[in-house]
Amino acid sequence: MIARIEPLTTTRRLNGPFDYLLPEEPVGVGSIVRIPFGHQKLDGVVIELTPHSELEAERLIAPTKVQPDSVPADLVDLALWMAAEYCSTPARALALVTPPPGKAKTYFFAEATGVEARVNERQTALLARLPGPAGDDLAALRRLQKRGLVAISERIARRAPRMNAAPDREVEPTEAQRTALAAIEAAPGEARLLHGVTGSGKTEVYLRAAAEALERGEGVIVLVPEIALTPQTVARFAARFGDTVALLHSALSEGERYDEWRRLRSGEARIAVGPRSAVFAPVDKLGLIVVDEEHDASYKHEGDPRYDARHVAEYRAAYTGARLLLGSATPRPETAYRVKTVRLRERVGGARALPPVRVLDMRGAHHALHPETRRALTSAGKSIVLLNRRGWSNFLSCQSCGKAWECPNCDVALVLHRAGGFLACHHCGHRERIPQRCDHCGSLSVARFGSGTERIEAELQEALDVPVFRLDADTTGTKDAVPELLARFHAASRGVLLGTQMVAKGHDFPDVTLGVVLDADSTLRFPDFRAEERTFALIAQLAGRAGRGPKGGRVLVQTATPDAPAIAHAAAHDADGFLRDELARREALRYPPYADLIRVITSAPAPAPARAAGAVLAETIAANTTDATELLGPAPLFRLRQRERFQIVLKTTERAAAIAATGAAVDAAANDRGFKSVNFAVDVDPV
Ligand code: ADP
Ligand code: ZN
Ligand code: ZN
Repeated sequence: MIARIEPLTTTRRLNGPFDYLLPEEPVGVGSIVRIPFGHQKLDGVVIELTPHSELEAERLIAPTKVQPDSVPADLVDLALWMAAEYCSTPARALALVTPPPGKAKTYFFAEATGVEARVNERQTALLARLPGPAGDDLAALRRLQKRGLVAISERIARRAPRMNAAPDREVEPTEAQRTALAAIEAAPGEARLLHGVTGSGKTEVYLRAAAEALERGEGVIVLVPEIALTPQTVARFAARFGDTVALLHSALSEGERYDEWRRLRSGEARIAVGPRSAVFAPVDKLGLIVVDEEHDASYKHEGDPRYDARHVAEYRAAYTGARLLLGSATPRPETAYRVKTVRLRERVGGARALPPVRVLDMRGAHHALHPETRRALTSAGKSIVLLNRRGWSNFLSCQSCGKAWECPNCDVALVLHRAGGFLACHHCGHRERIPQRCDHCGSLSVARFGSGTERIEAELQEALDVPVFRLDADTTGTKDAVPELLARFHAASRGVLLGTQMVAKGHDFPDVTLGVVLDADSTLRFPDFRAEERTFALIAQLAGRAGRGPKGGRVLVQTATPDAPAIAHAAAHDADGFLRDELARREALRYPPYADLIRVITSAPAPAPARAAGAVLAETIAANTTDATELLGPAPLFRLRQRERFQIVLKTTERAAAIAATGAAVDAAANDRGFKSVNFAVDVDPV
């Protein structure tokens, strides 16, 4: 037999797989082996065993080593599918499913054998404390082992991540929850959308669906948005299922991550909980994948392959016959369109109905806060204020000559961060000191436009006599910063939680009585077909956070476009109306779900090669697709990180053909010496 091996390397210019002889140790699909490759040695994944090779026998060599951990065979198939689906390479896709680095931590464990012999006092005491870890007594125990009195074995120590299990409440499911569960149970291999407002009992449905899967002997994957922002879901799974739950996320130590992976691989843990990458958890006999907050943008991966965990989950569930359960209060229009929906219409457990939402018209306003917002914030005990823009002001410009401060690496305006005394680029991280005067004309009148979270924080502190807790990427640099800040807000008797969209995510503060959205149309101004969907979700999600306790609450939405459908529907808590209007708009414009989008960005230090590569791609793709695929571009994008960029966009109703044509065109262009300086980034289903 011959092993077909895909070397784990990041270059696009290497086309595997390559044939190797079988090593002495047994291997199968998913084995990870060390292979001599040119002058180097690389790890590779066995993707197939086959009787024949095209190569002559004497040119074939064998791997030098078989690594102790392997990838489940179904995940090898998943990776190969992803490589094609996202126009990436098998090696890059396989890198997502291979075990995390590390190895098991072991210790020595000693037990008395029961053999009787003369021992001294110290040894008697030692034997009396067994069985147990050898610890510092290893040398003494080894002497007793030589005499047959003690058996010593090597055991694996578990490095367990902290999960903060919340107290679990046994509840009797409502009629609606029962109906939802029955609909999920009835359809293995299929997807269901669980559409219900915050507090309608979705998590309870996830927990019960998971329990039923475990009972059938099946494994479960639960995907959540960023763990730091949604600790409650993890805590409730940990509370109900204990050590059966393995937690997978980036803030774990290397040892913890390795051990959690290993516990899933061995079947010791049967439920994997984590953010998007947990969709690759090595869970055997998969019976259920839950995607909580399915509308969340964090499910899209920005590296290569640019996978979408929801799409991967759908494929993996169909492949393994597992149920797929997507939950949200604000589902994406395409999910609502394509997936059978189960509704949870009422809040449960004594929670109040959704709070009333008032839209405040800010046209012609001169202050960041509407008078009514100011009054409400003064009288509310605890409130959440959302402003989807960090920093102090949007941009800085000279009032005399009009110079605007831009990033030297990217063609975008720099954002003022006053407390730190710097201007920052929110794309590449470039920073510079705030200028005292215009370096172009020398004028001292440098003006600031717009306002970000930092500026609103200062305004709130001045206007109100309450503590302000600011939550955004600037105040939460370290990994514990988010939970710490949320805990301080939770403990405070009064205060304002102010921040970017992070404040509208999954946490639960029952005593918050006021939610405020500032500049709600800021997300609508994004030149992006998802602007409506995001704006609706942001307002609806914030409304779901306010007024959960006995005191009830209300929501104020400040906007210059009070009649925009996304804002009006959110204010009326009308998710169905929003989905209906939004789907009609997308159908008219041929956006998803009525067509698929593929974007390719070419970038290079100089504009000419990037543009030329884009043009070649467009030509090749057009020649290999039909009228069902519409091509836009190459169009210039703003320069980013010192690279000039061009983009082409495909709108297609023949997804598979368009992906294949794009993949082939990019592979050919990437191997073209004329485009050596060009990088290619393919994004299928951009978000
Ligand atoms: P969601 O995930 O939709 O926000 P949860 O499942 O977290 O909703 O439920 C909200 C609250 O209601 C939780 O405290 C939960 O324990 C409680 N709850 C859920 N289902 C029931 C039920 N059937 N009866 C009583 N309380 C429930
Ligand atoms: Zn000037
Ligand atoms: Zn920049």
